[in-house]
Amino acid sequence: MKTISGTNLEQAKSHNRRVVIEAIRTNGPLSRAAIARMTALTTQTVSNIVEELARSHLLIPMEAQKIARGQPIIPYTINPNGAYSIGLELGRQRATGVLTDLSGTVCARVERHVDRPGPSEAMPVLAGIVRDLQAEFSFDHDRLLGAGIALPGRYADGGVTSLSPLNLPGWQDFAVASELERLIDLPVLVENDATAAAIGERLYGVARGLSSFVYLFLAGDGGIGAGMFLDGHLYKGSRANAGEIGHIIVEPHGRLCTCGKRGCLDRYVSPSVAYEYLGIDRAHELSPDDLDTMIKSNDPGLEAWLEQAAQPLRQTVDFLELAFDPQTIVLGGSAPSSLMTRLAARLEPLHIPVNPTEKRTIPRLMVGATGKDTAILGAAALPIFSETNPQFDVLQKPIIHRSAQQI
Ligand SMILES: [Zn+2]
Repeated sequence: MKTISGTNLEQAKSHNRRVVIEAIRTNGPLSRAAIARMTALTTQTVSNIVEELARSHLLIPMEAQKIARGQPIIPYTINPNGAYSIGLELGRQRATGVLTDLSGTVCARVERHVDRPGPSEAMPVLAGIVRDLQAEFSFDHDRLLGAGIALPGRYADGGVTSLSPLNLPGWQDFAVASELERLIDLPVLVENDATAAAIGERLYGVARGLSSFVYLFLAGDGGIGAGMFLDGHLYKGSRANAGEIGHIIVEPHGRLCTCGKRGCLDRYVSPSVAYEYLGIDRAHELSPDDLDTMIKSNDPGLEAWLEQAAQPLRQTVDFLELAFDPQTIVLGGSAPSSLMTRLAARLEPLHIPVNPTEKRTIPRLMVGATGKDTAILGAAALPIFSETNPQFDVLQKPIIHRSAQQI
């Protein structure tokens, strides 16, 4: 067997911890043997991880089930109060925060109005939301793992790598994670909204348990991007720019895009273009429900948008299927649901698949199930499923102490 160094062993342990928590969160109570079957980890590895998680009060053993032969089976379940996490989402007009427990249940929610904020306005608002969430719900604050934040734009190592978030100046090169960490004194993980939504959809929605899917994210007040979950891992690219599909050219010499190119997908399919066709001004100031009503009452406008959006998006779906061979493609995001369901319907029939005779168990294209909360729920999951979150060590302190005594 290949020798594994100390650092890698720690990483492997964190990864296995994530896999075990996710297996139980997704499937309900599981025995160690069932987890081993499901995750392809060895029974010994699963036993070590489960014991560690149980000692940290993240998992609870349930009543033993007697079987005819051999040891009774003990299923383990998630202890909802074992850990907590905060999810934050910042848009142009709204900053939102949720406090979730380890099972993913939302325990508290806080919303604040903002107006196209720069970082110097946004950071104190987000820190205030974190404080209010902690005051609003009674729980053991030592068990708060940190905060995850979903922002438009792409990030690597805490810095912005592509088009500035919120399409506003001031965000370029602003270290969101370290600045917010300084204000709230907790680990902060930053993710772009499309990737956060892919995580949310995988934990709570139609992509539950899937190992390969592409999530097409339509932002309520912006454009289109993709979150990619491939072969059981998030795929982010070498500079965290993977999934910037809004800037694929679908119409050479077409409409001018904010990126400087012509004919980008974004200029045909994004919700902001839909609002232009529908004659809705300042859509970012309206609630999703109000937008839904306006969309439903303007069929000619909606038809005109669908007519020019369907072909470019169908072409993009074809490209994504051929390039990544996902189990499915999910269309979702914070855009009004009426836009997404009509758009998904208009994409059918999709282009001929690579293997037309294959019997599919999952549709090629699905509309996301988690609605406008997808990205924020995904953001709240970041500290729980992070493989580098130092807060997990804090939860395990009593164990380290105990094993030191045993030695
Ligand atoms: Zn572009």
